[in-house]
Amino acid sequence: MKKVSVECKNICLSYGNNEVLKDINIRIEPGEFFALLGPSGSGKSTLLRLIAGFNQHNAGQLLLDGSDITHTPPHKRNIGMVFQSYALWPHLSVWDNVAFGLVERKLPSTQIKEKTASALELVGLSQFAKRRPNELSGGQQQRVALARTIVIEPQVLLLDEPLSNLDKKLRIQMRRELLSLQRRLGITTIFVTHDQEEAMTTADRMAVLDHGIVQQIGTPTALFDYPVNRFVANFVGTMN
Ligand code: ADP
Ligand code: MG
Repeated sequence: MKKVSVECKNICLSYGNNEVLKDINIRIEPGEFFALLGPSGSGKSTLLRLIAGFNQHNAGQLLLDGSDITHTPPHKRNIGMVFQSYALWPHLSVWDNVAFGLVERKLPSTQIKEKTASALELVGLSQFAKRRPNELSGGQQQRVALARTIVIEPQVLLLDEPLSNLDKKLRIQMRRELLSLQRRLGITTIFVTHDQEEAMTTADRMAVLDHGIVQQIGTPTALFDYPVNRFVANFVGTMN
């Protein structure tokens, strides 16, 4: 699959008088695992939803693989998103939850079978295909949500605090699994988190956001060693 870049150029977004994103400039390289770190309310979800196409910016450009997708509807962007509350369909089996997007796209049944099986295999859930979501642990449900998104083979994967509902031990394990999956797929990934340790231990590069302003972009080591201001120093330097 082709690896693509994602670029935000001078992006601004307001809700009424509330300026939520202020002149955002970020370029995410093809195949990169990029973390977006910031405290609650800093605009992380708003930016991710904007990239997915669920929010519209008031100014600026959003480029996918160099092309402006500002006016491309969400279903035509080839971007997959896993939300914080990854509601699975309770009445459907794991298999049907994962196959759903392919059925919706009216793929031939042989392809649906192949792709669904391979997505379940990738997240290590092949043997749970017949179960219902409520017969799975939190971590397994999270893997179903991930499989459901990667099965449609998006060019970009957006993850909005996907691990925040899990307990600490599981979170650390899932973090490793997520990264290894991302490396195998080579898919450009934006991982939103308010957990500095999570960002520091996974990201190729990261951006720190505060009050809708990008404070700094760089590798975890660069941000840790050379924070540009007190906010970054405090936020990145404080490990949980
Ligand atoms: P984060 O994900 O970093 O916690 P959000 O992007 O959810 O932050 O929110 C950033 C700001 O935008 C907050 O002040 C929030 O109240 C506001 N906001 C988010 N979504 C909406 C919305 N649909 N309508 C109005 N304000 C919103
Ligand atoms: Mg959020």
